[in-house]
Amino acid sequence: MFSFLRSDLADLVSYTPQPEDFLGKQNTKQEQIDRLDTNENPYDLPQDLKAKLAQTYQDIIAVNRYPDGSHGKLKQAIAEYTNESAGVRHFHPANISVGNGSDELIRSLLIATCIGNNGSILVANPTFSMYEILAKTLGISVKTVERNPSTFEIDLDAASKMVADADPPVKVVFVVHPNSPTANKLTEREIAWLQELPERVLVVIDEAYFEFCQHTLAPEITRHPNWVVLRTFSKAFRLAGHRVGYAISHPMLTATLEKIRLPYNLPSFSQAAARAVLSHREELLQVVSEIQKQRQKLIAAFQKLPGVQVWPSNANFIYLRFQGNAAANERKMQEIADGMKARGTLIRHTGGGLRITVGSEEENKHTVQRFQEILKS
Ligand SMILES: *Cc1c(COP(=O)(O)O)cnc(C)c1O
Repeated sequence: MFSFLRSDLADLVSYTPQPEDFLGKQNTKQEQIDRLDTNENPYDLPQDLKAKLAQTYQDIIAVNRYPDGSHGKLKQAIAEYTNESAGVRHFHPANISVGNGSDELIRSLLIATCIGNNGSILVANPTFSMYEILAKTLGISVKTVERNPSTFEIDLDAASKMVADADPPVKVVFVVHPNSPTANKLTEREIAWLQELPERVLVVIDEAYFEFCQHTLAPEITRHPNWVVLRTFSKAFRLAGHRVGYAISHPMLTATLEKIRLPYNLPSFSQAAARAVLSHREELLQVVSEIQKQRQKLIAAFQKLPGVQVWPSNANFIYLRFQGNAAANERKMQEIADGMKARGTLIRHTGGGLRITVGSEEENKHTVQRFQEILKS
């Protein structure tokens, strides 16, 4: 059956979204579920801003019309924010491409570079799984290297070898800064390695968690036209439900991304929402320091738990593992993730560890309590 389908797709597993019960603020039993498995912001937009947006929908947006396919005003606002966040002045709308989530931009980059057995991508695991998933849906081969198990620094010798020898050749290197799920930012050594890569390699710096770390590599784009920085409104800016991401790159690369994307990829309401949060960024990003404070409290609480190894974090999540036998720990961590879910907290078992989003103060209290309860049982 369905012999028209590509055979390599049969083995792929689709990215599993939340079970329907967990969508929205409450599940069907009217119990609060703490959704700490996807690194969203724990706070919705303030009511007055939502009301303003609703008014925009009522008064300004014509839903019988296609959205602005050029994203003109949004790009202008993003370019300004990019300059401000990087302490520079040289980014313009011609440097910005907007996607339906940065996931769309990752796919566009893959289409622009590797599709048709033209090249492979390089990732250092554990890292964001979408690079590999999206590459495979396009039939693109994925080369992987490991990280140092205690610092999570990329094995740069192995990575250099891949860039020199891989077949098909490595055309894109994906790194997350700071990385997910391990929460570490790129080291000076890693950045120097990226700077030395030949210009035939596209370097993608995914800064999905930039606002929690405040270190950006965007200024590098002027020196390295083969670099692109990805960002998203899904995390610090609280707009996961609106699906808006952007790429910052050399105008020629931006122009190519614009050729590849679907014409009306971003709904009018999402464009309006992204512009609204940018114009209220000062107020909205105030929660970043609160989340950073909560992050440190959470890390301190986990450091007290016996056998638990928790790492420093530059993002809005923490990452932990257990000391001892890795295979036995995998089982234990799955039991913990299941136990947390049964108690009302969703966390993520991934990359040989547990990744837990920093939530509200109350959610974080639940996290620690429930985790302790499971360890004792
Ligand atoms: C959350 C996340 C994204 C954002 O994806 P969107 O499609 O913009 O929601 C991108 N990269 C990483 C590493 C992420 O964690």
